[in-house]
Amino acid sequence: MSRIHNFSAGPGVLPLDVLEQAKRDLIEHEGYGVGIVECSHRSKQFDDVIESAKARIRRLLTLSDDQHILFLHGGARSQFYAWPMNVLQGGRAAYLDTGQWSKFAIAEARRYGDVDVLFSSRDDSYRSVPAADSLPAIASGTRYLHYTSNNTVAGTEFHYVPDAGDAWLACDMSSNFLSRPTDGSVFDFIYAGAQKNVGPSGTTVVIVRQAVLEQINQDIPDMLRYDVQTTKNSMLNTPTTFSIYMIEKVTAWLENFGGLAAIEAHNIAQSDRLYKAIDASSMYEGKVERASRSRMNITFTTGEPDRDTRFWQEAASQGLSGLKGHRSVGGLRASLYNAQTDAAVDALIDYMNHFERTA
Ligand code: PMP
Repeated sequence: MSRIHNFSAGPGVLPLDVLEQAKRDLIEHEGYGVGIVECSHRSKQFDDVIESAKARIRRLLTLSDDQHILFLHGGARSQFYAWPMNVLQGGRAAYLDTGQWSKFAIAEARRYGDVDVLFSSRDDSYRSVPAADSLPAIASGTRYLHYTSNNTVAGTEFHYVPDAGDAWLACDMSSNFLSRPTDGSVFDFIYAGAQKNVGPSGTTVVIVRQAVLEQINQDIPDMLRYDVQTTKNSMLNTPTTFSIYMIEKVTAWLENFGGLAAIEAHNIAQSDRLYKAIDASSMYEGKVERASRSRMNITFTTGEPDRDTRFWQEAASQGLSGLKGHRSVGGLRASLYNAQTDAAVDALIDYMNHFERTA
């Protein structure tokens, strides 16, 4: 077996120990005599898995008792419409437009109500998120403020939690979920596609507050209703059992690692090293404003599109994969999700230095 260094933006790198365990559990899981993808979702075997996954997420994010954790289908993108369908009902919502995923979320929300875009960096190629003290006031009567805590394509990240005032606070945490200490109890709605920091694709982790459930639109399909899914413990139909199993294993790995403070230190150390290498070079250039730099998705360029292409192609041939920037923006992107290894970062920096000397 030979594993290469994987910088994919998602699905992305997962802890090797977890993958080794999953390999065994696919054949036979916890003495039950059947593999984890072969058991009923209504069995004790699976119930222990989903309850443990929820307990770990609850501990990691210090959630309060009135917050429910769901595992839903359809990717994070389905939450772009499911959330406003549940709660907007012709009302007013505020959005921060900090990247292509927020742009899509805004477009979906507009079908269900009025949207105020309080900040947009779209005309500046999404190179920044707003400064903490620069956000305009939210109009009274606004139901929620929605933002994207990490912008996977542009490579920017919020390093603070915006204040939603009297409105609900809703966040797409897909690409920095569980990567830094986060007081989850201040959010009324969180969603995160699993395939970056916590597992394979298939499941979106959704966290919703009880007060929200009491005000939702009951005239939408049951599969989309957070109150129904909460009552059914995410099992209105067959849930994505393997993804949920993987989330349980990855969050166990994360708790053993030392939790969110420890993983944040690891993520800061790795991303700082890479940004330093970019800043020290006369060829590479970071693509976003310094204060908005993401620890998860480091976007950069050699300054010439053809040279960027050569960079990622030659890197791939040397066992460094996934460095091509998103197809909509080009350039280069290295994703340093929680499970990224120091060896991969070392190898990337060595390769960058070599490429610069010989380009
Ligand atoms: N939001 C963000 C921030 C993302 O990075 C992505 C996927 N890259 C999505 C939403 C869409 O996720 P999915 O593919 O699970 O629908």
